[in-house]
Amino acid sequence: MEKNTSHIDKLKQHIHNKSNDLDLYLKALNSAYSGIIITDNMQHDNPIIYCNTAFETISGYSHNEIIGHNCRFLQAQDRSQPERQIIKDSIIRGEECKVEIRNYRKDGTLFWNELFISPVKNDEGKVTHFIGVQNDITARKKAEHDLREEKSHVEQKIQERTKELQDKEIFLSSIIETVRESLLVLDANYVVLSANKHFLNSFKVSSEETVGKPLFELGKKQWNINSLKELLTQILPTNNPVIDYEVDNLFPHIGRKVMLLNAYRIEFEGHYKDRILIAIEDITEKKEQDRRKDDFLSIASHELKTPLTTIKGLVQILQRMSGDHPNPKFVNTLDKMSSYVDRLNLLITKLLDTAKIQSGNIELHMEPFDIDKTIRDAIDNIKLAVPGYEICISGTTGAIVEGDELQIIQVVNNLLSNAIKYSPDSDKVDVGIHKVANFVKISVRDYGMGINYQDRLKIFERFYRASHIQKKFPGLGIGLYVSHEIIANHKGTLWVESEPGEGSTFNFTLPIINNDDNDGA
Ligand code: ADP
Repeated sequence: MEKNTSHIDKLKQHIHNKSNDLDLYLKALNSAYSGIIITDNMQHDNPIIYCNTAFETISGYSHNEIIGHNCRFLQAQDRSQPERQIIKDSIIRGEECKVEIRNYRKDGTLFWNELFISPVKNDEGKVTHFIGVQNDITARKKAEHDLREEKSHVEQKIQERTKELQDKEIFLSSIIETVRESLLVLDANYVVLSANKHFLNSFKVSSEETVGKPLFELGKKQWNINSLKELLTQILPTNNPVIDYEVDNLFPHIGRKVMLLNAYRIEFEGHYKDRILIAIEDITEKKEQDRRKDDFLSIASHELKTPLTTIKGLVQILQRMSGDHPNPKFVNTLDKMSSYVDRLNLLITKLLDTAKIQSGNIELHMEPFDIDKTIRDAIDNIKLAVPGYEICISGTTGAIVEGDELQIIQVVNNLLSNAIKYSPDSDKVDVGIHKVANFVKISVRDYGMGINYQDRLKIFERFYRASHIQKKFPGLGIGLYVSHEIIANHKGTLWVESEPGEGSTFNFTLPIINNDDNDGA
């Protein structure tokens, strides 16, 4: 009996111990961060027989609403997720699995559930239960989603940008291939990186014999010119382009040609800074045409001048004979004839001058002369021709310059007659004569119509006339060209400063040869 009693006590003690252990396990499960459930695999539809507090928190359902249900209530209507099949298969096979699945709280809000299920087997190996451990990974999923979005956004941007660049490149290369100008792209060592079709066609060369070769070794080394080399070496470090460099040479396959070369440093959206673009234009034909035009001008003006001199002589004879002619109308007509002949003569002389300058045949009779006196005398003469006009001179230099005095007078005449001609609403011109370092500087300032920027760039070219004045003011567009060349031949410069509507100032300089320290005004 005693023995029996002690056995029952032991059993009681054992049960007591066991129930203490169970208590501890349940407490531990309830303090876990993860939601934990146990389903009974032996009952129909695998009901949940246990859930911890965290599961209640995650799902929003209370213990009573959970126990007895199948887990699928967590999926609400979202039944088409492939993860469900994975879970089902694992249960059938009695295996563990891990999925990330969309679940819904009691209030209908979505949460991402990282679910791990694991079978519990009895001694015979039969699955009696499943334990499910769940973690709410909504925040992580969102972060992953945002990251994916961001990544795809960046990828999309990169794709767009790449496409944009490709489009631009296609656009640029189609321009390069279409232009009727030969183009080469060189690297920093003057090696040809690309040559457009026009270059290959014009020079009758293949891409193979051009691309990859240094410019100076192309063909028969016709680009191997020291002065050109010097200019090209300046492009990358200084960004100074090579403008209108003429190469007159014998080219293989195409013979003697005059090529006009322009070279620039390429900068394309901050890239390719060390590339040089060379544009080459064949100006052989144009040069030849210019030469023919000059020849024509020179011959035509010579031919015109001869009979004109005769006419002038005849008019003079008639004028002398008409001394005692009774009819004043006759005398008057003769005088008019004489002055028209003079004007015609002047025009032809101007044409001849351009032809001479162009062919380099203009002769300079260089002699020292007193520039102040020359300018003042020239202006006094002009004043006689335009009596109502106020031409004010300021400054003296006391300088002696060496040059062709008649040509300098011609420049002053050109500038003053323009100043008067292109100032129809003003009757004043200011002329300044000043010494600047070892140059004299002569300025002719008018208060007329002025010259816009585009015209300012071109007025020193032969035959150029601003378009808006063509009908109103007669002229040949020669005076400034001739003046510019004359001053350049004297090693000075001629330039203009002007704004439309505010008048113009034409300035030119001439080097002084004496060095007395008279600073003038
Ligand atoms: P022309 O006077 O015969 O046209 P020029 O060579 O002397 O030829 O001048 C070229 C062009 O420059 C003129 O047609 C005119 O458009 C412009 N020009 C020259 N001087 C002046 C000036 N003082 N004011 C405004 N425009 C001028």
